[in-house]
Amino acid sequence: MGIPVTFLKGVKSKRAAMLEALGVRTLEDLALLLPRGYEDRTKTARIAELTPDLEVTITARIMRIDFRQIRRNFSVMNLRVSDGTGELTITFYNPKYIKNRFEKGAVMRFFGKIVKGYYGFEMTNPVFEVASQENTDTQFTGILPIYPLAQDLTQNFLRKTVTEALALLPPFQENLPDAILQKYNLMDRDTAIRTLHAPDDLEKALQARRRLAFEELFTVQLMLMLMRGNYNKDGLGIYFTGQDQTQALIASLPFRLTPAQENVWHEIQQDMESSNPMNRLVLGDVGSGKTVLALLAMTKAMGNGYQAAFMAPTEILAEQHYRKIQPMLSALGYRTVLLTGALGAQKRRDVLEEIRTGVAHCIIGTHALIQKDVVFAKPGIMITDEQHRFGVRQRALLAEQATTPDILVMTATPIPRTLALILYGDMDISRIETLPEGRKPIRTFVENDTRRDRVYAWAKKLIEEGRQVYIVHPLVEESDNMDMEDLLSATENYEKLSRSVFKDIPCGLVHGRMASKEKDDVMARFVAGEIKILFATTVIEVGVDVPNATLMIIENAERFGLAQLHQLRGRVGRGAHQSYCVLFTKATGEVAASRMQIMKESTDGFLIAEKDLELRGPGDFFGTQQHGLPQFRVANLYEDMAILREAQEAAQGVIRASSEYRDFLENIRKMIPQTIAL
Ligand code: ADP
Ligand code: MG
Repeated sequence: MGIPVTFLKGVKSKRAAMLEALGVRTLEDLALLLPRGYEDRTKTARIAELTPDLEVTITARIMRIDFRQIRRNFSVMNLRVSDGTGELTITFYNPKYIKNRFEKGAVMRFFGKIVKGYYGFEMTNPVFEVASQENTDTQFTGILPIYPLAQDLTQNFLRKTVTEALALLPPFQENLPDAILQKYNLMDRDTAIRTLHAPDDLEKALQARRRLAFEELFTVQLMLMLMRGNYNKDGLGIYFTGQDQTQALIASLPFRLTPAQENVWHEIQQDMESSNPMNRLVLGDVGSGKTVLALLAMTKAMGNGYQAAFMAPTEILAEQHYRKIQPMLSALGYRTVLLTGALGAQKRRDVLEEIRTGVAHCIIGTHALIQKDVVFAKPGIMITDEQHRFGVRQRALLAEQATTPDILVMTATPIPRTLALILYGDMDISRIETLPEGRKPIRTFVENDTRRDRVYAWAKKLIEEGRQVYIVHPLVEESDNMDMEDLLSATENYEKLSRSVFKDIPCGLVHGRMASKEKDDVMARFVAGEIKILFATTVIEVGVDVPNATLMIIENAERFGLAQLHQLRGRVGRGAHQSYCVLFTKATGEVAASRMQIMKESTDGFLIAEKDLELRGPGDFFGTQQHGLPQFRVANLYEDMAILREAQEAAQGVIRASSEYRDFLENIRKMIPQTIAL
């Protein structure tokens, strides 16, 4: 779609390839190529006023010219210039084509960056021109965009190419409603795009940028709101105010709720008892005890005669929840069923029938739970665990199942504030701030291959003391571009070690490509303590709870995101025993080292996530592809908080007045990516 850049005269396949490295294929892409800054050549200074790093135009007379041919392919020209207030050295490297344009005594303008050199201030390879009245072809007016560069592209080439593209392209169609432009004082789209590349002044450039950033944030907000459905319907919630058995359940727990859990439970109860449907996100680090809150909320709903559903991201987790929850609810007189993709056809029909007729009170499952044929008799609450792995679409579907059941979302994924606002802007957020007491912080070690034997010996010792061990290998479960090498590494390592170092120890292997029956079997044996060492891929990432496991060895640790490492590591340190994590890494780079250091020093998931972001930089802010959100070209989530808030307010306004914006919203709906997964 669009006119390819090769349509332009100066752009042949070679340059087209370089442009492609910037994500530019068409003239439209060029028009939307965001300058990363501007050169203000109208800004002038006297030499006496210069300071390092200033980008500025000076006007000065050439006092001396010194040209040296250093090697056959390397020459240097130094100009010594003066403006009466001081002197400056200007250096050109390889000035082959320009050296004849300078004459001693001529007055010229130079634009460039000031650096401090051995002999005072210098400018290197500045832009220059003769400073005479007759010079009408001046390059020193206005503000020039500075584009991101790739390979051999130059600013001049990009400026010329973008200008040509803009001249050829018809006016850019407005895509925001008039009322929004008015209310938020936004430039129209065509003006904004053209201003971005040739602003009269920096203020105009900022306004243009603001308009385009607003457009992106506003659009994404609307997409998310449309996908979620109109969930904040006032007064349509269920009043869960009847008698329930939550007190009895709390009394029967083998532990006391922490104050942090109490607080969140209190918030959940208030939501459930109010006339509005609950739409709450519970953020709590791994091991903070979210599951029991889910259990309490479900019990409250069931006590009021409604069904409760609990959705987990993987079969392993759904089954684990089922195993834990089923006996507890059974003791209270409720029937719990498990619905996953692994059920046989007959069994599945039976379970669906129980859900449809209301025989089943609590339904635990994977996304099998939100297929079209799953019909609830009387759904009261829908809880998703680690829902960021689910599509928003599914969440909306889940919500559609009923009149307006309550929604509770639980996640241990620490998300930065801006992203949380975007993704969960319409939700109430609870945070479980502290872990249950008595947990000993996990001790983490970063090791390389030379320490392998020692680590294995230590693992054996822990096993002799009765503990269990995880050995984790990088692999994204069920990813399309699965790397076979990684899959092999878990399997191979298992084959190798279970026959050598660990040959007298019961070992097991789980990975995402195993049949789920087989996987369950291995997991169950690990939970039962029969298997002592579990070789695994990241299938064990979220929620797997084996308090007796106290050592986690992670292979190729540098391949994981820090947040993911943190979640993996959270599989140990769940019981009374001191737990350990060993990160094996071959990476030697500085960033890799800092990342491992963070893991070693911190056990605070939110801190780790922030640091990780800092290291990765805003470029990769989203870790985005992972969310499937459209990429922002202009908006920057570090800096555009204020614009985000406006965009959010505007989006809410539009949703509220949706009948006035029908066509507009219909267009937004069409833009929603199919693959979005939060
Ligand atoms: P997560 O928040 O990661 O889902 P879980 O709900 O799996 O955490 O809880 C982790 C472990 O802590 C479980 O074994 C659970 O039984 C236990 N736990 C939960 N709440 C408490 C508490 N208040 N005191 C002690 N242990 C608790
Ligand atoms: Mg959990």
